[in-house]
Amino acid sequence: MAIIFPSILSLLHHNENLRNDPESYRPKRCPGCSHTIVWCHGCYLRKADRKDLNEPSELVHIPRFYCPECDSTCSVLPECIPPRSWYLWKVRQIIFLLLLAGNSVNRTVATSGSRVCRQTVQRWWRRFLDSFSDYSFHLRNHFPWLGRHTELIDFWTKCLASMPLSTVMRLLYEEGCSVP
Ligand SMILES: [Zn+2]
Repeated sequence: MAIIFPSILSLLHHNENLRNDPESYRPKRCPGCSHTIVWCHGCYLRKADRKDLNEPSELVHIPRFYCPECDSTCSVLPECIPPRSWYLWKVRQIIFLLLLAGNSVNRTVATSGSRVCRQTVQRWWRRFLDSFSDYSFHLRNHFPWLGRHTELIDFWTKCLASMPLSTVMRLLYEEGCSVP
């Protein structure tokens, strides 16, 4: 089970924060049973691809916690890392903005400066389009002003102009939506 730590938008920020203030990652409650005391349980190493951001890929330390009440562990991911993908949200955001601006998948792959292949971009985009009614429903509950934007392109263009994709996905994840 993972909890997403808000407002950590880069791996650099995560590494610094983890070094200087590891206690800030400790959840206030166990996500399984809501018990209020969880113990530090080391870190696991997770691969995160940063080549698209012109930085070397590296293993990232993800803190883990143990709940003595329900005998379970949870990890705390910085917001910049998707729960189930090793590309940072930032990479996906660049690609989605190009597609929302009307670029074809081929043109997006050619101009994004990303190493993500065409098939992956197509898969990300299809899933993003298919999730529109679910995602937009939850996001309008958080941000009623999004209710003015009913059409997909308009909705996402306005939404991503006001907050990063990582924040959008963190909110959806916390609502129980399936996110990549
Ligand atoms: Zn628990």
